[in-house]
Amino acid sequence: MVWEERWHPLRREWVIVSSHRNDRPWLGETVDEGRDMVPQYVSDCYLCPRNSRISGKSNPDYRSVYVFDNDHPCVGPASPVQREEPASSLYRSRRADGMARVVCYTPRHDLTLAELPHAEIVRLLETFRDQYLELGDRPEVRSVLAFENKGEVVGVSNPHPHAQIYATNFVFRTIETEIEASAQHLAEHGRSLFGDVIDAEEADGRRLVVQEGSALSFVPYFARYPYETYIAPRETHASLAGLSAAELSDFAEVLRRTSTLRGAGPPAYLRSNFQHGVKHLPVAWTAAD
Ligand SMILES: [Zn+2]
Repeated sequence: MVWEERWHPLRREWVIVSSHRNDRPWLGETVDEGRDMVPQYVSDCYLCPRNSRISGKSNPDYRSVYVFDNDHPCVGPASPVQREEPASSLYRSRRADGMARVVCYTPRHDLTLAELPHAEIVRLLETFRDQYLELGDRPEVRSVLAFENKGEVVGVSNPHPHAQIYATNFVFRTIETEIEASAQHLAEHGRSLFGDVIDAEEADGRRLVVQEGSALSFVPYFARYPYETYIAPRETHASLAGLSAAELSDFAEVLRRTSTLRGAGPPAYLRSNFQHGVKHLPVAWTAAD
């Protein structure tokens, strides 16, 4: 039994680890979500090829990854420049410029990331890389975050496999904390913090999930959930754009194989939390500035 608090070196906060509260450990079960009845195409899905979206625009007859500007962007060039100033000097506001986009992984409505062939996951990662470079080049953008919310528990009712990209004029606090922690570790030790985490996990070995060439996945010592999985290239890179073609291929394979696994518990919850693992892909591509 493990019952203690562990320091999360990236988030700089304590994590309570209490294994006795988990009925079952992560067994690395194969996904079996009973999705046999989901059709390949749904006529009223706003993400399926050829369908109309709420903006009145239509999706092309796309065959691979498809990216479009979010029809209801949280940040965007159309955000008002002139705003009502808050009455109290305590309050502040500013323009919500930036870009918000949607990334459809595949025209197939019925597939998940785990079911995509390796080559299509490579293509998806190349798309995230290209989006990072394009959006990161905009003068107003300070951070590019790609993420997938999945499952009804987080309010995403459309099962069509897709991610969102927020290119914002600020850096989210959790990412800023990771950047600060990494910079301090580098200054004090002359080494990459995340690289040292990988070294520690490989030396221990008990929490490694998938290893493939230059990439690996693991449940870190300081995981906040039993199945919180990090996926990373072994070599340190400032962003996803730094990975070679061979590294990107290994990364895609580790992502694919890790995504076919799941932990114990209610499936929707687990699926959503696996996305914390996927979200940690952006450790590679949320480098600010
Ligand atoms: Zn669809």
